[in-house]
Amino acid sequence: MKYLKLQNLLMLNELIKIYKINYGIACRIGDNIYINKELENYPLLHDSILAHEFTHSSKFNKNDLLIDLNNKHLKGLKKEYYSFILTHPSSWTEFFPFGVYNKKFVISPLISGIWILGLILFYLIWKII
Ligand SMILES: [Zn+2]
Repeated sequence: MKYLKLQNLLMLNELIKIYKINYGIACRIGDNIYINKELENYPLLHDSILAHEFTHSSKFNKNDLLIDLNNKHLKGLKKEYYSFILTHPSSWTEFFPFGVYNKKFVISPLISGIWILGLILFYLIWKII
């Protein structure tokens, strides 16, 4: 059923190109989706992540932020997701505030925001101590 659902998404989104890359987890940039090819060894996780990327719009907006903060696609797959991250160091680039996709430098708004908040918190704690 999961597979059929993904097939429908693929048919509905003929304009979206999927690139298999060897780092990160997955991201949507414009009409391109980049997904770590290692995820193919985890079909359920792969399809859920791909379905998640399809729900994003081609331009990162407030709705995309909500999609990421309220990630429903990983429901029930969190254990598999984190185990994938822990066993695949190539996926760790997902947590960098920026990346290079199709030879283009791309800044991740959500991850950048988390890094900035983390640095502010670190600075405040540093000042208090
Ligand atoms: Zn997302």
